[in-house]
Amino acid sequence: MALVVQKYGGTSVGDAERIRAVADHVARTRAAGDDVVVVVSAMGKFTDDLIHLANDVSPLRPPRELDMLLTAGERISVALVSMALAALGVESASFTGSQAGIITDTDHTKAKILEMRPDRIREALAKGLVPVVAGFQGVSTEHDITTLGRGGSDVTAVALAAALSADVCEIYTDVTGVFSADPRVVKVARRLSKVSFDEMLEMAATGGRVLMLRSVEFARRHGVPLHVRSSFTWEPGTWIVEEDPTMEEAVVSAVTDDTSEAKITVAGVPDHPGVAAQLFRALADRNINVDMIVQNTSARGLTDISFTVAKTDLDAARAACETVREEIGASEVTSDDGVGRVTIVGAGMKSSPGVTALMFETLSNLGINIEMISTSSIRISCVVRADRVAESVRALHTAFGLDARAS
Ligand code: ADP
Ligand code: ASP
Ligand code: MG
Repeated sequence: MALVVQKYGGTSVGDAERIRAVADHVARTRAAGDDVVVVVSAMGKFTDDLIHLANDVSPLRPPRELDMLLTAGERISVALVSMALAALGVESASFTGSQAGIITDTDHTKAKILEMRPDRIREALAKGLVPVVAGFQGVSTEHDITTLGRGGSDVTAVALAAALSADVCEIYTDVTGVFSADPRVVKVARRLSKVSFDEMLEMAATGGRVLMLRSVEFARRHGVPLHVRSSFTWEPGTWIVEEDPTMEEAVVSAVTDDTSEAKITVAGVPDHPGVAAQLFRALADRNINVDMIVQNTSARGLTDISFTVAKTDLDAARAACETVREEIGASEVTSDDGVGRVTIVGAGMKSSPGVTALMFETLSNLGINIEMISTSSIRISCVVRADRVAESVRALHTAFGLDARAS
């Protein structure tokens, strides 16, 4: 008998019929002899709708109150899934993140899990119930309700799977697994049967939103096997596992796209030690994640520093940069939210010269200007205009031989 954590995303519980289908699958898993812990997201686009509602109500949305609002979505889902299970004769109990013992820091809207105390979930399992846990939420060390960042139900599922030593964490979604590119952007994308944690981390960090980045980090750290699969077809999907020597290392296994970031440039920065440290310390102190960074060669003792941040952090990041600009005597801070990023990921890239050249040539053939570049040993990212991202992804997918028809 295995313990399985099953997480269902928004589309998977999008309406009454979908909720009944999920309950049916949970009931079947139980009937097959496995214990199940269910984690659910808010129905459909409910979280987005709540955010729009908040925007309509007030220009000020204190993060604590936003979290209180957004967690309502998952609360609805858990109660409904539990009711649907009852109708099938499966005994279950719904839990909020707080009741499930998910203790977070106080960083509202993107809280991090500090500790898991899933005692009530263990008790429910011991009584033979199916616990149904609200994803995306926790309770802070100050006893306030928090959320874990967009897509955070994935983190809830993995954290519970780790804390309960589950045998597998199944992520049910609206596609049949992890593809070589977002199947909505690249029609000829291929489903990957296995992806290494290294590659999945790079994909999640660069826009492959099928799994939230932090859930992949968490799964790797705690050795939780992840299985991404469809709640529409129920067929086996993609396993995220540690790389093993028998896995074929594709030179490039996926292309990702991301238009969720904006670029900030601080111009006329005095080029001496400590200045960059001061700038990025100010951002770190405000909990702002900085992504790609480029510093120009200096001319007459001055340089420009550009970097990307999430669009949702843009205002806070600009304010932080303005403060530092005055302190260091830089000339101006500008931002650009019309950028996007296209990335190629592949574990075999380490040992294949020519990958970078082919990426740049492919973009150049489309007449696309590369504004920033960043690399890791298994990834190359280019910042381009946001409206050229989709065609870049498609061209790179073809250039690196990933199109389904090419195989
Ligand atoms: P859920 O609500 O189930 O969490 P998400 O919308 O967060 O679903 O994630 C699933 C979506 O991720 C898919 O519908 C797909 O458009 C998108 N996606 C982006 N990149 C990929 C990829 N490489 N493989 C599969 N899906 C991807
Ligand atoms: N409902 C939340 C969101 O839309 C969490 C999730 O779906 O994972 O971001
Ligand atoms: Mg998601």
